[in-house]
Order: sequence, then structure tokens, then C-alpha cells
Amino acid sequence: MIPFLDLKGINAELRDELLEACARVIDSGWYISGSELRAFEQEYAAYCGSRHCIGVANGLDALSLTLRAWIELDRVREGDEVIVPANTYIATLLAITENGLVPVLVEPDNTSFNLSPRSVTSALTRRTRAILPVHLYGRLAAMPELMKIAEQHDLLVLEDAAQGHGASLEGRKAGNWGNAAGFSFYPGKNLGALGDAGAITTSDEELAETLQALRNYGSHVKYRNLYQGLNSRLDEIQAAMLRVKLKHLDEQTAQRRRIARRYLDEIDNAAIRLPEWQREEEHVWHLFVIRCQQRDHLQKQLDRAGVQTMIHYPIAPHKQKAYPQFNHIELPITERIHEEVLSLPMDPSLSPEQVDRVIEAVNRACP
Ligand SMILES: *Cc1c(COP(=O)(O)O)cnc(C)c1O
Repeated sequence: MIPFLDLKGINAELRDELLEACARVIDSGWYISGSELRAFEQEYAAYCGSRHCIGVANGLDALSLTLRAWIELDRVREGDEVIVPANTYIATLLAITENGLVPVLVEPDNTSFNLSPRSVTSALTRRTRAILPVHLYGRLAAMPELMKIAEQHDLLVLEDAAQGHGASLEGRKAGNWGNAAGFSFYPGKNLGALGDAGAITTSDEELAETLQALRNYGSHVKYRNLYQGLNSRLDEIQAAMLRVKLKHLDEQTAQRRRIARRYLDEIDNAAIRLPEWQREEEHVWHLFVIRCQQRDHLQKQLDRAGVQTMIHYPIAPHKQKAYPQFNHIELPITERIHEEVLSLPMDPSLSPEQVDRVIEAVNRACP
């Protein structure tokens, strides 16, 4: 079986470096909020081009704490509206509702899968305070257009960059477009820890300071609490793992792009719609997502041919039981996407022969 993502294989290639970093932390005797975290934060901020990086426990907290910090800073108020693409992963929505804010779900662009500037403009109301674009599947959202809208209407922009590590446009990376960005380093992301981890990047000093307190019981100074914060820290072991993995991120992204290019050039099946990229640097191919009207049938055929695939995501957030208040909303483009998408194996450790076999199986399938 060609695996969808062979994490064991990816990490095995870096085994010696990871073990060495692990030993360094074990021997240091310091396991939370120490020199590994500080070094990773500096290195990741530099990678993204932002002034600050604040490590937290996971990607959901990265998004949620940023909104919370804006509330603490009185830039956003309870009940304010946040515009978000309807076809995102549930975490984007949870971050909004967890903070007592109102998600305004809008249809994505049907080809890029990303937040459509036109939908944003038509969803604006007096209560709109922020836009939450998602760099879905690794493709940078239409940031120049979205930033222009935000500027015109005095809105904050929080990027959900959990799938977009390293994607860039005009020399500017994901995480350095909006007022802040939330990253996830969940093991399967393009930059993945060996457990849970996340971070916020921003060039806003005041926001960075507030986040540093919020992630640590609301405190900058031990036993002095400015906010009712939480415990959401990125520990030393994970920071050390991420420092190793960050060194290899660009070469792994280049490998993902090589695989994507082969899929795009060589998959030829009238029943399948391929994803697009406009400029190479815009897309880091976290996922390679094809569309097919007979998606479930196609998935079964590929499974029989020894190709593992996944569905990102089978149910749209507004159709989830967790959000009965949104179940009645009709979003045909979004719902169609959830019915048709299928993610092919996308893993920097795939061999050219494995890529051959995926292409062959997809071309032979007749859904
Ligand atoms: C993975 C992911 C998250 C959440 O990250 P966790 O680290 O799992 O909390 C948020 N948004 C998107 C788009 C994601 O893919």
C-alpha cells in the first residue's frame, strides 16, 4: 500500500538529529519555557519574516489566544463578527466561537478553495471586526486583495496558517501578511513536531506581549496575573524537535512541489479535476486535493489498487452536530467541495516509483 503520509519514514530520515536534540533537552534539566523555545521562536519568526513568534500548545490555541488577546486589548468585542471561509477545518470556527465571537461563514473561491475577496465584501456588516483567511491545503489565500479590503474597512486579519508553512507571494511568507497568524505543528503538518505544538507570528509588539502572558496563566512575572490566562505552552522537547525539522522544511517543500508537478503533468482522467497553482511559491502542497463527482467510488478503486487516500474534510463545519445553529445555512459551493474532494498521497519521502504507481492507478480508475 502506498501510504497517504508516512510520518515514521519522514522522521526516520532525521532520526540522529532528533535524538541528539532530545538528549540535549534531557541533559539540560529544563523542560518548559527555556532556551529551546526561545531559540525556536527566534528562528521561526525569522523564517516567516515577522518580528515575533510565540510558541503555544497547538494550532487551535494559536488562533483562539490571538482572538482572546485582541479582546483583552479591546480591539475586538464579544459579539463582533469574524468572516471565515465555510470550507475550513473545524478548528478555525472553534477559535471564533470559543471567544464569544460570531463566525460569518462565506463561500470560498471554487478553484483555489480559499476565501474569496468578493464573498468577504458582500458579507461585511457594521459588526464585522476581523477576517480569518485560511491557507487551505497549503495554498496562500488571496492576501493582497484581502489586506486591501481589511485596510479600507479597518478590520483585523488573522491568518490560519496551519497548512501553509513557507507559502509565499511577492517574497512575503504566510504568517507575515495579516496582523497575526496561527500555526499548527501537529505531526502531520508540513512543519510537524513529535506531538502537539503551535505558534503565533506577528509584528505587533503589544499583541506579542499579551500572548506571552495569556499562554502562561496570564502572567509575565511569576505569581503576578494580569489576565485569566491558560496553560498553553510549547515545551522544550517539542521546540527542540521543531528546530531540527525547520532546517529541513524548505527541502521537503521542494520535494512536495516536485511530486505535485508530476501529478499535475501526468494525471489524465476526464472524471477528475486537478488542483491549481498560479505561482509556484504560493503553494506548499500540504495536501494534493483532486475533485471527482463519484469520489467515494474513486476512493474504493484506488484503495484496491494499493493507494491510500483521505478526505479533507467529509463534513462541512456548518453541517456538524456541534453547530446546530448553522445547520440550516445553505452554502452550495462549500457542500459540493466536501462531497467531491479526495487527497492523494503527498509525502516528501515518496519515491519516484511510488509516484508512478499513484498516477497509473488514478489514470486507470473509471469512476
Ligand atoms: C490542523 C489545523 C488546525 C488546528 O491545529 P491543531 O494543532 O491540531 O490544534 C487549525 N486550522 C487548520 C486549517 C488546520 O489544518
